[in-house]
Amino acid sequence: MDKKRVVIIGGVAGGMSAATRLRRLNEEFEIIVLEKSGHVSYANCGLPYYLGGVIKHESSLLLQTPQSLLQRFNLDVRVNNEVISIDPQNKELTINDINKNSLYQLTYDKLILSPGASPVIPSIKGVENAFTLRNVEDVEKIFKEVTRKPNNAVVIGGGFIGVEVAENFIHKNISTTLIEATPQVLAPLDPEMASIVADEMQQNGVKLILQDSVIEITKNEVILKSGQRLDSELTILAIGVKPDISLAQSAKLEIGTRNGIKVNEFFQTSDPDIFAIGDAVEKEDEITKESTLIPLANIANRQGRVVADYISGKNIRTASNLGTAIVKVFNLMVASTGWNEKRLIAAQRNYVAIHTHPNNHAGYYPGAKQMSLKLLVDKQTHEILGAQGVGVDGVDKRIDVIATAIKAKFKAYELADLELSYAPPFGSAKDPVNMLGYIAENALNKTVELAQWHEIEELIKSGYVLVDVRTKEEYDQNDLPGSINIPLDELRQRHQEIGSKKVLIHCQVGLRGHTASMLLNQLGYEAKNLSGGFLTWRNSPAASKMSYQK
Ligand SMILES: Cc1cc2nc3c(=O)[nH]c(=O)nc-3n(C[C@H](O)[C@H](O)[C@H](O)COP(=O)(O)OP(=O)(O)OC[C@H]3O[C@@H](n4cnc5c(N)ncnc54)[C@H](O)[C@@H]3O)c2cc1C
Repeated sequence: MDKKRVVIIGGVAGGMSAATRLRRLNEEFEIIVLEKSGHVSYANCGLPYYLGGVIKHESSLLLQTPQSLLQRFNLDVRVNNEVISIDPQNKELTINDINKNSLYQLTYDKLILSPGASPVIPSIKGVENAFTLRNVEDVEKIFKEVTRKPNNAVVIGGGFIGVEVAENFIHKNISTTLIEATPQVLAPLDPEMASIVADEMQQNGVKLILQDSVIEITKNEVILKSGQRLDSELTILAIGVKPDISLAQSAKLEIGTRNGIKVNEFFQTSDPDIFAIGDAVEKEDEITKESTLIPLANIANRQGRVVADYISGKNIRTASNLGTAIVKVFNLMVASTGWNEKRLIAAQRNYVAIHTHPNNHAGYYPGAKQMSLKLLVDKQTHEILGAQGVGVDGVDKRIDVIATAIKAKFKAYELADLELSYAPPFGSAKDPVNMLGYIAENALNKTVELAQWHEIEELIKSGYVLVDVRTKEEYDQNDLPGSINIPLDELRQRHQEIGSKKVLIHCQVGLRGHTASMLLNQLGYEAKNLSGGFLTWRNSPAASKMSYQK
């Protein structure tokens, strides 16, 4: 071999980023990309939208072809070429040319694995009757079923892909039920945020079945553990993905504790000439620096570029990962970054949770829409541990700013110091992110103590009186059970009616409750403000436990 040959397995997000960057940096390399499906550089993130007709043409999903990649980047891209095994001693691959149905060998100097993650297929009776969605061939099969106009469909799994597919089936007027085994959809969210998403799905016609699981799938039925039988002419299985480690195992490369390919900071596997990137590898968690799995496109693309830089002898920056993600659910934007509260509780971390419900832009400017934001902060170090947002508009920019702040190691209260762009149609002079910083500062230095929706019961048992400081009209419309109403503007005159020095204050979103708590504290009370107020409680499992009707 005269030229240095780099072979890349997997021609989509990570693999193709690596290939094109390698070419830009090294005109003299021989670069071969092996892809087992019939397409390279396809937009897997766009696949669900093709099903619903939002993306109208399949060709829009195909960003490049082997011919275009040859022409522009001089890449030797071989689709329908599946790597069967790796022989690291001889630096040789065995490849099945699927079209010719013949095996051949190919040697490499450097090998990059970017085989992605494959759908988890549980051992359910009749599972072969369900479709999974990973690549263009999968979407073509499902699309064919959709064009037959099925009367009903069942989507198994309430993760990102399941939720996106369910929405797109509704766009096609298919009566759709989504089954999720846990009590909520979208695991990265905490329950009081996920319930907003569940409401949106139901209001748009998705039938949601939570806390039930599938025991059998037939050609036209899905049977649940609870005994329910659902008509289903089209069943989609989307219960998660797992790193595709089969090739790595064939090469006896080290597999990590989370069952992904183990790599060092240069994306080198246990064989220094074999690199691995993307969904198949374990990443470093930004919060704990421990191994984690995050199957997201941004990370795969970035890793593709970095590994190309390293192989080209450039200095590289390593980065740990937060798992910042966003999904559209009908009219909602749903985004998250870092850890959620469920995970912090499980890890026994000492944290503060902050909820707000600000407008996307100045309330007086037409079209303002309320969103729900949640911030999680380490009580000792004041580091930002995670954030979640759900709303019609403006959630993406707030979560992205917070994700950037986490990377920059800002303390939570420093969010108050950020100078963010503002004019009435776009934001507020005190942006929602600034407000989170103010609330964090007040909570961390104990200007006002926050209470959480899941602490209300305990606090009342320990002698706290629940005081609603909203107006009488708001209280009459919907009240938090057990609360007494003293509107904020009357609190100075009427606080003696509380009858206890321990007070749990709440208002609609937490803002008036904050003022009330500060007033009562100065009058000698021990006041806590309910984080996110009535709205957060209303969306929480505490409200559903009391059969509260929204
Ligand atoms: C339906 C869907 C929607 C998604 N939406 C989003 C989103 O909105 N946002 C987001 O951040 N992420 C999204 N993702 C995830 C994102 O697509 C992945 O994180 C990203 O593509 C991972 O890149 P990768 O290079 O590791 O693997 P992939 O992009 O999956 O590429 C791996 C390729 O390797 C090929 N391959 C595997 N084994 C072999 C072999 N032995 N020989 C040859 N080729 C092989 C596969 O055929 C595949 O094409 C979505 C994924 C899907 C399936």
